[in-house]
Amino acid sequence: MKRIYLDYSATTPVSPTVLEAMMPYFSEHFGNANSMHAYGSEGAYAVDTARRKIADLLKVKPTEIYFTSGGTEADNWALKGGAQAYLPKKRIITSSIEHAAIISSCAQLEQQGFDVTYLKCDKGGIVHPEYLEDAITDDTSIVSVMFANNEIGSVQPIKELCEIAHRHGAIFHTDAVQAMGSIPVDIADLGVDMLSFSGHKFYGPKGIGVLYVRSGIKPDKLIAGGHQERTRRGGTTNVPAVVGISVALEEAIRDLDKNRRHIKEIRDYFVEQVEKNIPYVIYNGDRNNRLPQNANFAFEFIEGESLLLTLDLAGIACSSGSACSSGSLEPSHVLLATGLPVEKAHGSIRFSFGKDTTKEDVDYVLDNLIKAVKKLRAMSPLYAQFTGGKTNV
Ligand code: PLP
Repeated sequence: MKRIYLDYSATTPVSPTVLEAMMPYFSEHFGNANSMHAYGSEGAYAVDTARRKIADLLKVKPTEIYFTSGGTEADNWALKGGAQAYLPKKRIITSSIEHAAIISSCAQLEQQGFDVTYLKCDKGGIVHPEYLEDAITDDTSIVSVMFANNEIGSVQPIKELCEIAHRHGAIFHTDAVQAMGSIPVDIADLGVDMLSFSGHKFYGPKGIGVLYVRSGIKPDKLIAGGHQERTRRGGTTNVPAVVGISVALEEAIRDLDKNRRHIKEIRDYFVEQVEKNIPYVIYNGDRNNRLPQNANFAFEFIEGESLLLTLDLAGIACSSGSACSSGSLEPSHVLLATGLPVEKAHGSIRFSFGKDTTKEDVDYVLDNLIKAVKKLRAMSPLYAQFTGGKTNV
């Protein structure tokens, strides 16, 4: 059976050259990067090289790059560490469409007595600067708004949001997990104080992320332990993964324009065909300020989960809501924040495209998707009610 993966926003495969670069650090160069002998030095050298490579690619200082266990840890550290470090200020501002890594960190901080403001978004999922301007107070310590949303791909006006935060004496963090490797990320131009990203979203390994922390900004420690990461983040360094994320980032930035063009072309073709061939669909998210890899549709009168399973049987992998929240029957908080009604949020599916997705893949998906939607609507009481009993509308 044909298998087509359209869930690249959930994760990507490790590129062969990234894997090749990582391999020696599992075996012959297995040393602990903190050990005081030749084995340790080999690991330490690899970590230093990777840190310098990432810093050069992002045009920041190596001392501003901290390795973490992934995007989730980087987000937790920025938020919780930032909130603690800037006490007595007690207000944190974030958006209502953040990833669970930020939303759950905020919920914990609220339990500890911090005040959290969740900015609204417009119906395309954009958090406009004026929403922040209206909400920010002098006791705001940290503002955290994601660069691009993982479910609907909306890309936020980070530079403008960051300027407002700074004007009011707050620091600014952005979760760039979905943006990094997919669209240009210019840290100096954005002016952000902290930025998170994760290796497995751009053909690097899972379980490795980076928190960029501007010099002079000192979030409190999240993971207490040894002297790793200049004593700011304890835990034996995952040398193969550190090497892997640096090579993956190098490749992602080198091929950014080419991949972005290809992925956007494929995505635009898919969107055009869906809208042409399937009635009663809503294209969730903003048409223009959007990640090139993302297409998210609400298929009215059917359940997203049923559609997902039907497509899975045809070998097609996509996602209802975000992979991170699957297992939950709650409708997506992101779609609800855009004003989509609950039943339409339940009928929503995310398709995310990768650098190796072909037009033939998309045609196969379209063919199966059109059939699946027809079949599920034919069984849907809501659809029957809507059409007055006719199921072949
Ligand atoms: N932030 C966003 C926007 C994401 O999409 C994800 C993962 O899907 C994360 C954070 C978490 O990253 P990780 O899987 O590396 O923990």
